[in-house]
Amino acid sequence: MKKVAIIGSGFSSLSAACYLAKSGFKVSLFEKNDTVGGRARQLKKQGFTFDIGPSWYWMPDIFEKFFGDFGKKTSDYYQLDKLSPAYKIFFADDVITIGDCMDKICEEFERIETGSAKHLRDFIGKAQENYDIAINKIVLRPGLSPFELVTKDTILRVDQFFKTISQEVRKKFTNPKLVSTLEFPVLFLGAKPSKTPSFYSFMNFADFGLGTWHPEGGMYEIIKAMRTLAEGLGVDIHTNAPVDKIEVEQGSTKGVSIAGKLFEADVVLSGADYHHSETLLNMEYRQYSEAYWDKKTYAPSSLLFYVGFDKKLQNIEHHNLFFDTDFEKHAEEIYDEPTWPSDPLFYANFPSVTDKSMAPNGCETGFFLIPIAPDLEDTEALRKQYFDIIINRFELRTGQEVKNSIIFKESFCVNDFIEAYNSYKGNAYGMANTLTQTAFLRPGLKSKKVNNLYFTGQLTVPGPGVPPSLISGKLVADLITKKHKER
Ligand SMILES: Cc1cc2nc3c(=O)[nH]c(=O)nc-3n(C[C@H](O)[C@H](O)[C@H](O)COP(=O)(O)OP(=O)(O)OC[C@H]3O[C@@H](n4cnc5c(N)ncnc54)[C@H](O)[C@@H]3O)c2cc1C
Repeated sequence: MKKVAIIGSGFSSLSAACYLAKSGFKVSLFEKNDTVGGRARQLKKQGFTFDIGPSWYWMPDIFEKFFGDFGKKTSDYYQLDKLSPAYKIFFADDVITIGDCMDKICEEFERIETGSAKHLRDFIGKAQENYDIAINKIVLRPGLSPFELVTKDTILRVDQFFKTISQEVRKKFTNPKLVSTLEFPVLFLGAKPSKTPSFYSFMNFADFGLGTWHPEGGMYEIIKAMRTLAEGLGVDIHTNAPVDKIEVEQGSTKGVSIAGKLFEADVVLSGADYHHSETLLNMEYRQYSEAYWDKKTYAPSSLLFYVGFDKKLQNIEHHNLFFDTDFEKHAEEIYDEPTWPSDPLFYANFPSVTDKSMAPNGCETGFFLIPIAPDLEDTEALRKQYFDIIINRFELRTGQEVKNSIIFKESFCVNDFIEAYNSYKGNAYGMANTLTQTAFLRPGLKSKKVNNLYFTGQLTVPGPGVPPSLISGKLVADLITKKHKER
């Protein structure tokens, strides 16, 4: 049986491990941290449960398809609830509530801008067509050649690759609050809406058409499910096992070394951040220079707070966006002139609003996220300064006092992303999906310099986010199986 060594245990590595084990490889996975899950690890403290990273469960079809490939269903592992409402957006002068179906969302749009409901239905109709093309056709291609993007459907929509989502939204909607609402989903792809092709409106269908879901117990339930599935398929999982070298002889890897000890393998696959993975190779086997990595556009980093409150909070939902300051200015401070935001937008997640298991009785679990540029200076003083800014705004917008109800607060920022995940410049969710960083233009799944070395995860194909990471694992496992499976 051929042996595959996998570096990392994020969604992409776990996904690849399952597919490779199913194809008949002997798979061993090495994770530097003491738990699996990568950016989706869990923090448990004083009866509170926090997802350290992802909290939006979008595109439930992709999770279903993943488990379906192994004859399973998500319900074999966790209970999924559709959130109603999906989320709430606080603006300076109003609050928009996004319901759990198009009828409710159209009603809310109409309240803000007369006539917008019809435009919204047209926009989401087009977004649904794009979703079908993107998810069922394009995204399942491994990014090996530009021709993968050339299909009858994409030729008919070629203009949508050269117009941006910002332009498309502004053609139909004038109210700035509706514009921000419709530009929000593509932020998951890591770039400014004014730099993201309008074809990516399929994210709007994921949002309004497919809805926002929650696995009871939190997002870490998905990681636990994947671990159970992987181990059931025979994958050996090693935690506290940082890989310090990918060993290569004459253009082929011999395996990985952990604490100086070689673990031999026929194929090596790294799901760690791509830049870090290449630093595990001798210079002559690296494909991309430091200059290459430096000039790429990264998805933002984040300043995060995990907060335990000793009371239930008012006027909030499970997911809450605070768009009560200038969206454009904050985006410029992330992408154009990287600096700490002058007046940050932020996101607040309270899973205990809908899921009692996430907090002790009568308490609230709070997760706050401020998107920031990667590579910024990160100090305790800055973290404190920004917590004060957002908690004051939170109190103002939701009309309540919460500061005196904080039992504990932990933070996580650029330095922690680097330390915990070997993240390049402390990026939170990988490399942005812009026109010049899409498909075959992203760092490749297969090494061009080492025969049997592969990469997966949010810095390669298809891109950032949990569903793309699941797909990335499948794509790379298919490539490895085609090339290395014993016949
Ligand atoms: C704060 C935050 C919020 C997010 N919100 C959402 C969301 O709501 N919805 C969504 O869909 N996506 C979200 N994302 C994105 C999503 O979490 C990621 O795209 C996805 O988890 C990335 O998975 P991955 O497998 O590519 O990488 P990772 O999860 O980073 O896994 C890489 C693993 O490699 C390990 N590693 C690194 N170096 C070594 C080494 N030398 N040896 C061994 N192991 C090593 C790391 O410790 C890590 O476990 C969010 C991300 C963050 C950070």
